[in-house]
Parts: sequence; C-alpha cells; structure tokens
Amino acid sequence: MDYIKEKTPPVREDRLRVCNAYGGSCPVLVKQSRKGCINGLRRSFSQTQGCQLNLSLASLNTFRDTVIIVHGPVGCGGSNVSSAGSVKTFKKLRDPQAQGLIWLSTNLGEADVIRGGETAVQEAVFYAEQEFRPEIIMVVNSCVPALIGDDLDGLLAELQPQVHARLAPVHCEGFKSRIMASAYDAVYHGILRNLTAPPERDKSVILDETEEFRCKLRKSRTVNLLNVSSMSRADELELSRLLQALGLTVNILPHFAHPEQFKEATEAALNISICATHDDYFVEHLRDLFGIPFILNTIPIGVKNTNKWILDIAGHFGLEEQAKQLISRENAELEEAIAPFRPQFQGKRVLACAGEIRVIATAEMLQYLGMEVIGLRAYHYDQFADNLLDDLANREKIPINVATGQPFEQANLIEKLKPDVYLGHVNNNGWAARHGLPVLPIFQQSNNYMGYNGTFEVARRLARILRNPAFNRNLSQNNDQPYFDHWFKEEPFSYIDGNVILEGDR
Ligand code: SF4
Repeated sequence: MDYIKEKTPPVREDRLRVCNAYGGSCPVLVKQSRKGCINGLRRSFSQTQGCQLNLSLASLNTFRDTVIIVHGPVGCGGSNVSSAGSVKTFKKLRDPQAQGLIWLSTNLGEADVIRGGETAVQEAVFYAEQEFRPEIIMVVNSCVPALIGDDLDGLLAELQPQVHARLAPVHCEGFKSRIMASAYDAVYHGILRNLTAPPERDKSVILDETEEFRCKLRKSRTVNLLNVSSMSRADELELSRLLQALGLTVNILPHFAHPEQFKEATEAALNISICATHDDYFVEHLRDLFGIPFILNTIPIGVKNTNKWILDIAGHFGLEEQAKQLISRENAELEEAIAPFRPQFQGKRVLACAGEIRVIATAEMLQYLGMEVIGLRAYHYDQFADNLLDDLANREKIPINVATGQPFEQANLIEKLKPDVYLGHVNNNGWAARHGLPVLPIFQQSNNYMGYNGTFEVARRLARILRNPAFNRNLSQNNDQPYFDHWFKEEPFSYIDGNVILEGDR
C-alpha cells in the first residue's frame, strides 16, 4: 500500500469493499462481502449521517502537546465543545502535566468563500505558535476550503520554516465519504506524511558494547500497541500487562501519545492493532515504509479473541509456550471469577450495537457469558469483519443491521426482537432506554472492556444493571416513541434498497 505520496488519502468507498446500509442475516452479509457485492447498498430514506471530520477530531484531540486548527466554518468544530472536558481528564491520566484540548477555528464566513481561506489559516498558525508553543499543529480541512480550492498543503509547506511546531494537514472533509471510518485513514495519512520520520540520534553519545546490545535487545522486543479513542486507560493497562507478561516493552499510540512517540514508533519490532477497521491503513504503510510487520486479525475482547490476539503476537516472537501458559492461567482465573454471575445471564436475550469489529467480538463475549445474542447493529461493514462474523456461533439465526445512526431502524428492530438487554454507544443507548430496556454502554473511556479483566468487568456491570432495571422501565412508561405506530408494523429494513436482492439470496 502506498498512498503517502498523495496529498489526500482515498476514501473507504474507493479503497475497500464497504457499506453502511444492510439488513439481513450474518452469513448472507459475509457471502455478499466476499463476492464484492456490498458497495452498492443504499437507503431510499436516511435519517442521519456521520461526518468524518468529527471522527477525525475525536482522534486528533487526544494528541498531547498539539494544537488543532479546524479550517472551516466555526460549526465544524462544534463537537469539540462537548469533548473538551473528557479529553483533558483522559490526557492527564496518561501524563499529569498534559494540557487540555486546545483548538482554534479559522471561522470562515461568506466573504472567505469568495476570497479564499488561506489568510485565515496563516493567522491561526502564527497565533497557535505564539500563544501555545506546541510541538505539533494539526490543521483539519473541512468541506468549504476543499470546495473553494484552498491549497492547504502548499500553504503549510510555505509556513513551516517560519514556525517551531511541526505542521500537519489532515484531509477529512465530511462531504467526501459516507463511511465515517475514512477518518482513521485521514488522520493516519497526516501522521505518516508529517510526524513519523525516524528520530535523530545524538551523534556525540558513544554507546559502549554492553549498552549497544541492551539497546538492540530492547528494540527487538518493543512493540507499538495501537490504541483507539474509544479505549480506556484501564484497557491500555490490561493489554500492557498481558504483553509485559511475555517480556515485551510497550509503546502506546496514537491516542493520548506525545509527538516523540510517533518518531519512536518507526523503530519497533511489531505493530499490534486491536482493530483492523481502525489501523489497516497505518500498519500497512509502516510495513512498506519502515519494514515493521504487524498483527491485525482480531480485537482482544472476550476470552476467545483475547486468546487468539496473544497467540498471534507470541507467534511473531517465538513465545508460543509462554503464551499458552499465560492463557491457561488467565482463563482459569477468569472462569472462577465469572462463575457466580452465570446463573443471572442464562437465557438473557441481547441486542448489541457498535463498530463492526467491536460488536462482533462483544457478541462472542456475551455468548461466553451464557447470553443469547439475538441481533447486531454495526456502523459500517467491510472485509475486515468477514472472518470474525463467519466464526460467530449461531450466526445464521442472528440478524445484522449495518447503519450509521438510523435510530428509526433500531427502534423497529427492538420492537420486533424484544431483547432483555441492550449494549450500545452512548448516542443509541438513550433511544434503547426509551423502550424500557436495561442498557450497558458497549464502551466507555473510564471502564475496562478489553483483555481478561475486561470480560470480568463487563460481567460485573451487566449483572448489576440486570438486577435493577427499574429506571429505564419507568422511563418507557412515561415517554412516547417519536415514531408513528405504522412504522413498527413495517419491516425494519424496508428503506434499504439492496435488501431485495439479498433476501433472494438466502
Ligand atoms: S460535513 Fe463538512 S461542513 Fe459539515 S461538519 Fe463535516 S466538514 Fe463541516
């Protein structure tokens, strides 16, 4: 893969087999995906749509010692207002000295659409440099400057010699893609083109032989653990614990990382992804540019996938025996800890909603706990989920809805399936609660979900919400659904065009 010479990354519609509109069975989705037939699926009615700029900001805002400039109308950075508090807290969890979120907007208006917005970028870059002295200034390009033809890369190249901070453009204009996950590629594209040059070594330091040997050994066992913005610090600590048990040194990036870590990343022995949807663009480029191999197959959520994740990593270093011992010890301990919760989960029917990789792995974890997964919703779907979904027990009986948002489809699905409990993202959870369901967030940046400890934590919190579902039950009794009754009599996927073809394929 080599898109790095290009100023802008391709969107996922062009690079992958991908869709965000599907409703049907899991095996049919996998079959259609493998045949390359999912790209064309569309809705005749769409209630919502995500913007890749907002997802890019969710990533970029976590970078330490960095100022973010949103180049566009001020509203494009509106989501920063809601995330500033949590970003500050979670940055400080990694580094108590870290500053909170610093972001500026070029605040384009109608006159700028005629004159161009480059002067506004220049002013914002100098202001950021003088006021905050950051290591990095990331300039995020929105729809308006892309449409009027501002040459952001050319301008930043001109400004670079005049400032200390490294300048990096990020091309994540919302209008370009219906697949929000294109944001991950846009962010990594900006990092790869501007922040990952190998670190300069101080030539005056002469290493003696022992020190040199120690250094080589360290690098041969240093791995990059690629985190995602929806991970918690507790997740990072749990995964680091498992990797350190194999004798590995862990460099965690890109989220909440310091700029220096991007340079050091080019010297690691292995890139370890926890989500292919998030990282394939980055790890493939790091392999091609710096010769670093990668692990990309699964996400360490649930026992089965955590075991597989550890074995894949251990296989790279020839540590299979140590890994098997670690897995057997951890599995036995977890089994003992989970046992008291099992009777409570037996036969409980669950609907889960999240990003494709996370939701499938979480479904497997819920099955391990003894629950019956009766439906899945994924924000989009691409080839990286094929093997995971193909491996899910009972998949032929589980309907899957691929939808970015579209709460009307979820509402219909909940009424049809009547689950006992719902797991989803914060935005969907409120809608599910209005049906009276107990709800467990499927990720939270303050809770542990990954590794073996994560499975225990999910079990512990699920048991608690199942014990006392009264709040949401009362909520549903005192709230009307925002949809007409006749919508609940229709099929949940009746506005997805390609479904006619897919139904015939069953
Ligand atoms: S779609 Fe375009 S204009 Fe709207 S928030 Fe996203 S980048 Fe800004």
